Amino acid sequence: MNIQMVDLFSQYEKIKTEIDSQIQEVIRTSVFIKGGKIVEFEENLKKYLNINHVITCGNGTDALQIALMALNLKEGDEVITTPFTFVSTLEVLALMKLKPVLADVDPNTFNIRPESVMACITPNTKAIVPVHLYGQCSDMESLMDLAKMHNLSVIEDACQALGTDYCFRNEKTAKAGTMGDIACNSFFPTKNLGAFGDGGALFTNNDKLAQSMRSIANHGMSKRYYYQQIGMNSRLDVIQAAILDVKLKYLDQYVLARQDAAAYYDRELSGIKGISVPARVSYSSHSFHQYTLKVPVQRDELQNFLKSKGIPGMVYYPMPLHLQEAYRYLGYQKGDFPVAEELSEQVLSLPMHTELNNEQLNYIVTAIREFFS
Ligand SMILES: *Cc1c(COP(=O)(O)O)cnc(C)c1O
Repeated sequence: MNIQMVDLFSQYEKIKTEIDSQIQEVIRTSVFIKGGKIVEFEENLKKYLNINHVITCGNGTDALQIALMALNLKEGDEVITTPFTFVSTLEVLALMKLKPVLADVDPNTFNIRPESVMACITPNTKAIVPVHLYGQCSDMESLMDLAKMHNLSVIEDACQALGTDYCFRNEKTAKAGTMGDIACNSFFPTKNLGAFGDGGALFTNNDKLAQSMRSIANHGMSKRYYYQQIGMNSRLDVIQAAILDVKLKYLDQYVLARQDAAAYYDRELSGIKGISVPARVSYSSHSFHQYTLKVPVQRDELQNFLKSKGIPGMVYYPMPLHLQEAYRYLGYQKGDFPVAEELSEQVLSLPMHTELNNEQLNYIVTAIREFFS
């Protein structure tokens, strides 16, 4: 049986006619940078998210950097984030010469704990960057309350959570990426809404920040060849926008397909001693960018066993960021973030994508049961 971590080709085959004709149309017009297709996609994504501004850019990492630049953060300003995330979240803080301050995560949600964030706030703290890891939102309401109390900006790293719904205490709902001052998204091919290459976007309801971010993403230009501020060259290609605009129509369907696969895994795996299926929370849906088990003992053995059966499994992430060589200069030690450290030794993500069928899912769960029998 052919099982992939992510099956992008099968997904493409189902919408091949639409995608191919959109790509041809871009080539026919030969407007490859900027142009109407970018505006169209941004408008459609704005409607989907119910937000005032969507600004596309080159990738999710650039989106994070552009957000920090637009907030006018200065060298040495402290920004609180999680040690248990993809490197970009921390990397851009380091590149901007800000002071990253890490706060440990919750062992069940894998997301930053508001209590740990609170303990890190100093007079130099300027922003919080929560990550909605694996497709489930951080506790945004508590984090936004903290931010308001201490006058901090919040940048949501929503790169793994496009399509996730958040539910406030008053039962109002909002899409992931629409709650912070700014949110960053990635259209990396394997993300919930994936391009055929790199891509990213910024979301905000703030008109001034939107204007500034749009300018920063385009060399800090105000009018043509006049520069208001130092910027970057970070744009979404028109071909990618055309592809994403087609796929956006299917995003909710894609999320449902992931949730169906997750429900299958839950049903078949939750009884097995030795693993924990992903915890759910009342305040967020889960778009299952990843379906991640906790395997306290023999995680690597399980991963190898599955591999021997032709089943891929991935560890996101095998080493928390505070222990990485590049970030040793921050001065953190082993033991500083015990939950993140423990999780890095326990997590195992199973194949998760929009095209998993019952035969494949059955094969995977049968193999896992066999390992634990
Ligand atoms: C993918 C990802 C990024 C970076 O996105 P790119 O488009 O690859 O630059 C940032 N943060 C998180 C949590 C991600 O998963």
